[in-house]
Amino acid sequence: MTTATHPHGRDWRRDAACAEVDPEIFYPLDLDPTGPAVTAARQVCAGCPVRLDCLLDVMEGEDPSRRWGITAGLTPDERAAVSAGRRISPAWAAAVAA
Ligand code: SF4
Repeated sequence: MTTATHPHGRDWRRDAACAEVDPEIFYPLDLDPTGPAVTAARQVCAGCPVRLDCLLDVMEGEDPSRRWGITAGLTPDERAAVSAGRRISPAWAAAVAA
């Protein structure tokens, strides 16, 4: 059950930028946070109008032992850092600010 309040309402996924791209882009084998594969996924998320909804959703519902792929512009390690209350990488901050 979702308890987070989503800025774009319950149907926020309708406006997700990733709905228009190959989902494989979000599951690269190379999760180097500054590498080309992660950067490509981050670029999609950076232009996504529901990125905050996505972040709230994944942080609330993701199983910490099964983190994989790029979600809301974050790698699994970055989401773990957010979950633990640590700072995220400068690469993510730069990507989402683009
Ligand atoms: S932030 Fe990224 S993963 Fe989340 S809905 Fe938008 S495009 Fe998809």
